[in-house]
Amino acid sequence: MKYIIAIMIVLTVGCKFPVDYDVSVGSRWPGGMVPYCTSGSFSNEERITDSMREWEDAGNPTGIEFYPEPCGPGVLTIISSLEYKATIGYNETNVMYLDRLSMSTSSITHELGHVLGLLHEFQRYDAKYHVKDCATTGIDNIAQFDNPLYIEENLQFDYSSIMLYNACVSITSTPITYRYGPSDIDLAKIRAIYMDIYP
Ligand SMILES: [Zn+2]
Repeated sequence: MKYIIAIMIVLTVGCKFPVDYDVSVGSRWPGGMVPYCTSGSFSNEERITDSMREWEDAGNPTGIEFYPEPCGPGVLTIISSLEYKATIGYNETNVMYLDRLSMSTSSITHELGHVLGLLHEFQRYDAKYHVKDCATTGIDNIAQFDNPLYIEENLQFDYSSIMLYNACVSITSTPITYRYGPSDIDLAKIRAIYMDIYP
């Protein structure tokens, strides 16, 4: 099954719709602990830790803790780049590329969502009932995936998800709300993955 997902995602990158991740969905980070290191220089580097704190949500814990470690096996390597891209969940190799020039807080938070195991909201199983298109690509031409890390059906479609592109257009009367941080439902997904609970 993992191979199928990997092949489908490769096809998606190459043929259908640009996505910012390039491997299959890994597992959850052991104990919710995410060691990370940085490689290269970034402008506004403090935005990385600011975005990490958003996912930890100390006011209502998500079970996640990011902490610095020397680079090595099992450590998320954050790479200075000119694009945004990340692996999904915990893998043999865990990388997150950040555009060192723009260092957009919302983009960093989005990529960290992938690192923790989230896929795009516009690619969930029922996206076609909520989204018309993203960046003029019709929803029927965007591959849908079932996230193996939690039961998506237990959470409603989230028009305010940081995992939606702001270029997506709603098909319903509920508009897509562009956010700079994770929504309440995004955080509920993380709790569902790491604390085995649903709201
Ligand atoms: Zn993405």
